[in-house]
Amino acid sequence: MPYRGRFAPSPTGELHFGSLLAALASCLEARSRGGEWLVRMEDVDAPRVVAGAAGSMLACLEAHGFVWDGETLWQSRRLDAYRAALDELRARGLAYGCACSRKEIAMSAKTRAIDGGLLYSGKCRHGTPSGRPPRAWRLRVENADIAFDDPIQGRVSQNLARDVGDFVLLRADGQFAYQLAVVVDDAFQGITHVARGADLLDSTPRQIYLQRCLGYAAPDYLHVPVATNMAGEKLSKQTGAKALNLNPPAANLTRALGFLGQCPPQELARASVGAVWEWALENWKREAIPRCRGLRTED
Ligand code: GLU
Repeated sequence: MPYRGRFAPSPTGELHFGSLLAALASCLEARSRGGEWLVRMEDVDAPRVVAGAAGSMLACLEAHGFVWDGETLWQSRRLDAYRAALDELRARGLAYGCACSRKEIAMSAKTRAIDGGLLYSGKCRHGTPSGRPPRAWRLRVENADIAFDDPIQGRVSQNLARDVGDFVLLRADGQFAYQLAVVVDDAFQGITHVARGADLLDSTPRQIYLQRCLGYAAPDYLHVPVATNMAGEKLSKQTGAKALNLNPPAANLTRALGFLGQCPPQELARASVGAVWEWALENWKREAIPRCRGLRTED
């Protein structure tokens, strides 16, 4: 079976150890099976994009010896495709306009969604109140279980109506939501396998449902544990993760391989980047990846 994987960072800061894990796992999964590996810049959320971050992320990937196939796809140049997908969902009655303000959503929400946010009550499902134009567009979800088998995390099942609610495709600030952009682009790029951090595990059923609604094939999904700080928080710019470019690339790669359960010889940390990749490609074992959502690490 042909294999096409991808790494899809959001350019909201420097590449850090947490993003290196997703890049490395997705690349080694692809390359160890003779597959292709693409890079997509998820700069769709314009307010969160940090100027210069995309360029420095790509340079940092190159410094770590990553080689990707084809041109980088930029989500900021794909807005027409997201608009077309939304129009199709609207035409089929699957997407609906929502006029609720943040305050109204908070007042009418009875439960929390799986990601800790508020579960939308579905107030505008049958139309917005008169004189109130839609602010956002939401996907009508079903009261049915969506399940998939993750080779690392096991079986994951969600009932979108109970766990997530009708989720946003186009936000009130005019930005397309990650869930729509990622699904449209994975299909557009012919991605067959998605390997990424387990922080996105709870998003996958939403993406599978959207793929069904749009008539796309679903890729296989694999979620590796995310690195957390000692307080158990995911490493990110917000939790003070250090930029990768402070350490030699071979040392970062060796540490990431160790985190992913691959037991690299410690002297690799002082070897060349090429030598680390050679070892990694020869010794990559998916079965050795720790079967959990998060693991603590020093920084
Ligand atoms: N852009 C997303 C992030 O940086 C990842 C998207 C994905 O791998 O599906 O968290």
